[in-house]
Amino acid sequence: MKKLDLSVVIPVLNESDNLSELLRRCLAACRETGGSFEIILVDDGSTDGSTAMIADAAVQHGPEVVAVLLNRNYGQHAAVCAGLSQSCGEIVVTLDADLQNPPEEIPNLVREMKKGYDVVGTVRENRRDSLFRRLASSLVNYMVRRATGVMMHDYGCMLRAYSRPIVEAILQCREHSTFIPILANSFARTTSEIQVRHESRRRGDSKYSFFKLISLQFDLLTSMSTFPLRLLSIIGTIIAAGGMTFGTFLLIMRFVRGSVWAANGVFTLFAVLFIFIGAQFIGLGLLGEYIGRIYWDVRGRPRYFVQQIINGK
Ligand code: UDP
Ligand code: MG
Repeated sequence: MKKLDLSVVIPVLNESDNLSELLRRCLAACRETGGSFEIILVDDGSTDGSTAMIADAAVQHGPEVVAVLLNRNYGQHAAVCAGLSQSCGEIVVTLDADLQNPPEEIPNLVREMKKGYDVVGTVRENRRDSLFRRLASSLVNYMVRRATGVMMHDYGCMLRAYSRPIVEAILQCREHSTFIPILANSFARTTSEIQVRHESRRRGDSKYSFFKLISLQFDLLTSMSTFPLRLLSIIGTIIAAGGMTFGTFLLIMRFVRGSVWAANGVFTLFAVLFIFIGAQFIGLGLLGEYIGRIYWDVRGRPRYFVQQIINGK
């Protein structure tokens, strides 16, 4: 297999308006790094002629441009995976095709990676997205930081660099719902971040509809933790405890004020109801604990990666 210094992986879905500028700027940025490189354009089932443009670019530029054409739309992260599996660079940079992340930042990422990090993320300076997207994104970033314990500021930005061992680790994960920046960080020992510029999308529309965004958030959430399942037990315990407290309170009031208070026992029914609802939630949560473990196992993620063995068998 050929060995290169840098691979740039770009998923493309209907970006024909951006492709030629993207390619021109990427080629310039990669040449600036001074090492050998390849630009892998992954067509994720485009219907606007991007496919032919990518294929043409690969023919025209020779080995510097690799075209990976998927037969239909599988989603951004699946497309990136397809690109990663074709990559042979020691450093792999992922990038969006819409020029929101300027390709001119690639040399900066490569420079930071050469300091020996596993993953270099980016923080978008004055981010140019709608307020809704920014708010949702900061909430998600906060949750991810809590769940993964990796203190990165911005998980949403796909302009990132990964070392070869991390890419190999990602490729060994056979799960379908992946969110690559988080998956990568779960295998990274040393990470760093740099500031990058961010531009608004000039041509074409965002490929994420509201529902696709929600589905992506669920991918993200379930890829990093099974805490939501555990939440059922916690909610159940709170409801059941509330029911018992209420019941005790009613019992005491029954002796203090007599049976007319609390509508002749109607409220007692509520207390009993809460206790049972709580018990049901706890039961669900217990099932969730099992399902969560089955989920981790079914994904079959490798349990660890050996970095190096010295004087092995
Ligand atoms: N993309 C893709 N497949 C999809 C959706 C998006 O390959 O199903 C690509 C798209 O062409 C772009 C990148 O993923 O290069 C990010 O998409 P977009 O800019 O629409 O997302 P946003 O910036 O709105 O989050
Ligand atoms: Mg975009």
